[in-house]
Amino acid sequence: MISEMIETQVMPNAMSADLPDWEQIRLDFPILDQKVNGHPLIYFDNAATSQKPLAVIEALHHYYVADNSNVHRGIHELSNRSTIAFEAARDRVAKFIGAKESSEIVFTRGTTESINLVAQTWGLSHVGKGDVILLTELEHHSNLVPWQMLAERTGARLRFVPVIGDGEALELDALESLLQGPVKLFAFTHISNSLGLVNPAKSMIAMAKKHGVTTLLDAAQSAGHLPLDVQDLECDFLAFSAHKICGPTGMGILYGRKSLLESMPPWQGGGEMISSVEYESSTWNTTPHKFEAGTPHIAGAIGMHTAIDYIDAIGRQRIFDHDQRLAEQAVAGLKNAVPGARIFGPSSGRGGVVSFELPGIHPHDLVTMADRRGVALRGGHHCTQPLMRKFGVPATVRASFYFYNTPEEVDAFVEIMRVLYEKFGG
Ligand code: PMP
Repeated sequence: MISEMIETQVMPNAMSADLPDWEQIRLDFPILDQKVNGHPLIYFDNAATSQKPLAVIEALHHYYVADNSNVHRGIHELSNRSTIAFEAARDRVAKFIGAKESSEIVFTRGTTESINLVAQTWGLSHVGKGDVILLTELEHHSNLVPWQMLAERTGARLRFVPVIGDGEALELDALESLLQGPVKLFAFTHISNSLGLVNPAKSMIAMAKKHGVTTLLDAAQSAGHLPLDVQDLECDFLAFSAHKICGPTGMGILYGRKSLLESMPPWQGGGEMISSVEYESSTWNTTPHKFEAGTPHIAGAIGMHTAIDYIDAIGRQRIFDHDQRLAEQAVAGLKNAVPGARIFGPSSGRGGVVSFELPGIHPHDLVTMADRRGVALRGGHHCTQPLMRKFGVPATVRASFYFYNTPEEVDAFVEIMRVLYEKFGG
């Protein structure tokens, strides 16, 4: 089990040479070994949230059983232990994404909160009337609505990089001209949660930099699936959530280039984020603490630390290769089993997400019928309503994979889709 390796605190990718069998990994995820509606569970809703290995569950358990206390406050032993573990998690995240310093890592509740933090601090102090925020047509609502709210407050405008066809790619030929003018920020997703499209983040960021435009990368779907290095990417901000990388819910990361974080005003006010408080005014703590008002999700940070050790013991490049193999198998299987299946996203190089529609069956009906056969899929707009409207569909069915999914599960899923189509589709 990978859990056993974690106990010896393996270094990133140290185990990749003698990787255990993918099937062995499943032993670390007892939740997968159950029947749902009388059938073996096939969990293909990983883009919504990943499952948690025993090592993470044990880290949370250990924290509450042995060390629970508030951080940065007490001078007693338990508080010291909690503070050390909490700050060690920050150091681990910095290493995980190649940040220069741990002070560039802000703990938040998730990707959504990270993006809202940037919109309401950096945004309100850097974006004004007539300025432009550049997004793409495939953004998750979390990377769209906060910018709409900012635009409403400041008089800024939104611009969008178009999506080609059924999500084949972004129209990157248009990027150069879209970056012209008073563009203040380019915020875009690395891997699309509804298409599996992997955007060439490094070159997109390089182009934005050439125009002096600040960049934010939504890494919610990539942080646990692809090797990431913020210094190599040269992004200014990056956001992701612990719960999609085998960690706890309610925990997220905002990476910010140090000079930018230092130039930003704080967001929420309260304990922890201050240096000194008078009745009439206050001064702020240093970065990143000035963005972390109140008692943080201490257990969340500790569980996320273990989750990062866990996935780095497997190796993110291996995870991505595995995602791609399963996605290609699913696309080929669906095309073969269901003539006329409409499959969204790129024809090659997709991440572990397959969005589709089968002729004559509403996505919600298909997902409900799949659930009766033990398959957990997602049917809906996947928090990308404008993109669904552009495709002219109310919803799609989405199967999304992670390293504990197997080719046998993909075969079983394709067969279930074939049977359901033959019964109800056409
Ligand atoms: N961006 C993308 C691309 C996502 O897939 C998600 C989650 N589905 C989010 C942002 C929001 O993440 P969270 O709900 O964890 O804040």
